[in-house]
Amino acid sequence: MKIAILGGGVAGVASAIALKLQGHDVTVYERRDADANIGAGIVVWPNAAFVLAQFGILDDIAAVAGRPRTMRRLSRTGDDLGALDIGLIDQRMGYPSLSILRTDFQRILLTRLQSLGVDVRYGHKVVRIDAGTVVHFDDGTTLTADLVVGADGRMASCARRYVTGDDTPVYQGFINWIGVCEGDFDVDAIQDYWGIGARFGIVPVTRNKAYWAGGAAQATIGARNPDAYRDELHRMFADWPAPVRHIIAGAPAARINKIYVHDHDPVPTWHRDRLVLIGDAAHAALPTSGQGACQALEDAWHLANCVAAHAGNLDRALEAFTALRFQKTAGITMAGRGLAASLFNRDEAFCRERDRASKHADFAGLAAAMADGWSRHLPLGAQAA
Ligand SMILES: Cc1cc2nc3c(=O)[nH]c(=O)nc-3n(C[C@H](O)[C@H](O)[C@H](O)COP(=O)(O)OP(=O)(O)OC[C@H]3O[C@@H](n4cnc5c(N)ncnc54)[C@H](O)[C@@H]3O)c2cc1C
Repeated sequence: MKIAILGGGVAGVASAIALKLQGHDVTVYERRDADANIGAGIVVWPNAAFVLAQFGILDDIAAVAGRPRTMRRLSRTGDDLGALDIGLIDQRMGYPSLSILRTDFQRILLTRLQSLGVDVRYGHKVVRIDAGTVVHFDDGTTLTADLVVGADGRMASCARRYVTGDDTPVYQGFINWIGVCEGDFDVDAIQDYWGIGARFGIVPVTRNKAYWAGGAAQATIGARNPDAYRDELHRMFADWPAPVRHIIAGAPAARINKIYVHDHDPVPTWHRDRLVLIGDAAHAALPTSGQGACQALEDAWHLANCVAAHAGNLDRALEAFTALRFQKTAGITMAGRGLAASLFNRDEAFCRERDRASKHADFAGLAAAMADGWSRHLPLGAQAA
C-alpha cells in the first residue's frame, strides 16, 4: 500500500517504521524545514520500550538513556512524601523504564527510519484535507494515497479536523517551563516536588545531565516572552528546595521553553475514508499522564498490526485499531487530568491533605496498577525481561 504520514513527530516517525517493516511504501510529510529540538526529555516506560524493541532500537536508546529506579515525591519544603518503585513496574512489565533527551530519542527514531530507506519530506505543511482523502500542502501541491495517517499533533491538527470536524485543544489551566541542565544528579531517582498549585520535576539522564519541568496553575493563556522565563521561574520557585533553585539558576535561558498545556477531550472516532488519526492528533494527554509519547509508539505498532491482520480491508483494519486503542488512551487522558487537577490545585487545605495521603499511600499497589494499565493489549510480562 502507498501510505502518506502527515507529521514527523514521534507518532509519525514511529508509524512510518512500523508500516515500512510490514512492507508498505511509506512517506512522511513534515511542516518544519528540518528536524527540530522538541521539548526536553521523556521517560520511555516499559510499554514504549517493548515497541522500541520491536523496531530493533531499544539497545540504541538504552545506550544514551538513564535508568531511573524510583520516583521520589517531596513537598516544596523538602518533606518526604513517599516514593514510587519504578523497579517494580519494570519487573512486572518485563521491560526497562528509560529517561532520555528528546533530541537523542528523535535522532534514534529517524536514523532507524532512514536505515529502512524512508524519506521525511520537510517543508510540507498540510493546509487542508478533502473528501476522498486528498491532502493539500501550502505550496499548492496535493497527494492521494491508499492510506493517510494523521500524526500532526495536538494544537491544530488538519487530520483531526477532517475526521471529527473540530481540532480545538482544551487548555487545562497550567503552564510548564521545561529545559535541560547540567549538574550532579542521583541517576537512580526522579525527584518530584509538590507545592500549592505548582510542581517541579527533575529527571536525571546521566550523572551530570537532567531534564526538568516546572509547572504552575494559571487560569488563562498569557504571553510567551522567552526573555522573561528565567525571572518567572525565580519568582515561582524562590523558596523551594535547593535542587530546584540550583537548576533554575543554572539553566541556560535560551534553552528554557514555556508551554500553555492543552489536551483533547477523548473522542471515539479516529478515522474517516482512508485517513486515520494517531498520537496526539487522536488522543493528546497531559504531561502529567507521563504517557503521551509512549502511547504514540503503541499506536504505531498496533496500527501496523491491524493493517496486516485485515489486509485488503482497510475499513475493518481502522475500526479494529480504534476499538483496540480508544479505551486505553481515554483512560490515560483522564488519569493525566486527575493528577493535574490535584497538583495544580491552589487550595492550601486540599494540598495539605493530598500530601498527607501521599505519605501513607500504597506505592506498591500503585506501581502494580500502573504496570497493569500500561501493559493492556501488549504481550508483556516478567518473562519478557
Ligand atoms: C511539556 C510536555 C512534556 C511531556 N513529557 C512527556 C513525557 O515525559 N513522556 C511522554 O511519553 N510524553 C510526554 N509528553 C507528550 C509527548 O510529547 C507527546 O504526546 C508526543 O510528542 C506526541 O507525538 P505526536 O507525534 O503525536 O505529536 P508531535 O510530537 O506534536 O508531532 C506532530 C508533528 O506534526 C507536525 N505538524 C503539525 N501540523 C502539521 C501540518 N499542518 N503539516 C505537516 N506537519 C505538521 C509538527 O511539526 C510535529 O513535528 C510531553 C508533552 C509536553 C507538552
